[in-house]
Amino acid sequence: MTTFSDLTGAVTKDIQTTLTAQEAFNWLVEGHDRFKSESPRERSRADMLDGAAGGQFPYAAVLGCIDSRAPIEQIFDAQIGDLFVARVAGNVVNPDVLGSLEYACKYAGTKVILILGHTSCGAVGAAWGGVEDGNITGLLAKIKPAVDTVQAKVGSDATPDNLNACVAENVHVACNALRAQSDILAGLEKDGTIVIAGGVYNVAKGEVEFLTKP
Ligand SMILES: [Zn+2]
Repeated sequence: MTTFSDLTGAVTKDIQTTLTAQEAFNWLVEGHDRFKSESPRERSRADMLDGAAGGQFPYAAVLGCIDSRAPIEQIFDAQIGDLFVARVAGNVVNPDVLGSLEYACKYAGTKVILILGHTSCGAVGAAWGGVEDGNITGLLAKIKPAVDTVQAKVGSDATPDNLNACVAENVHVACNALRAQSDILAGLEKDGTIVIAGGVYNVAKGEVEFLTKP
């Protein structure tokens, strides 16, 4: 088994192929530990570009929010060729995101999908408050199921705790949407080819809380 610290350049096809879904998830966790301890793994830029020229073999795909305070690659100390990253406000699942993740896992060999919400999410806050405006309305409708679930338990006060509970619920909703709306992803998860996990990044602490782990 190749460990992340063995890498000198980009992830190769051989490495991606031999990596289990659990090991790929561990690489995300280890990368985040390096981010937290401010000890990034240095790799040769030239070697990574050499690898990139020959193809891409990312170990994980992350669906995150567009929020400027939650930069996916930095959070996981990832570089060229490491991650597929999809970003959309509120890290919601839509048909184009599903197609992107299906491609990442079925055709490009990625072993992990992580849905990453974050604290102080403006999209979740807007959905909580029932904002309607332009195309934002349709986006927020995808967060509404999480809002309804959490408000049924705690009421509609927009406290930080309630909003963060909604952020976490929205991650669970997105994980389940992958399974419910994609036969490809559900099948790959069922046969152990991939894992689907969720987490919440705390923008004040710079730390991810993994909600579900393989
Ligand atoms: Zn957000």
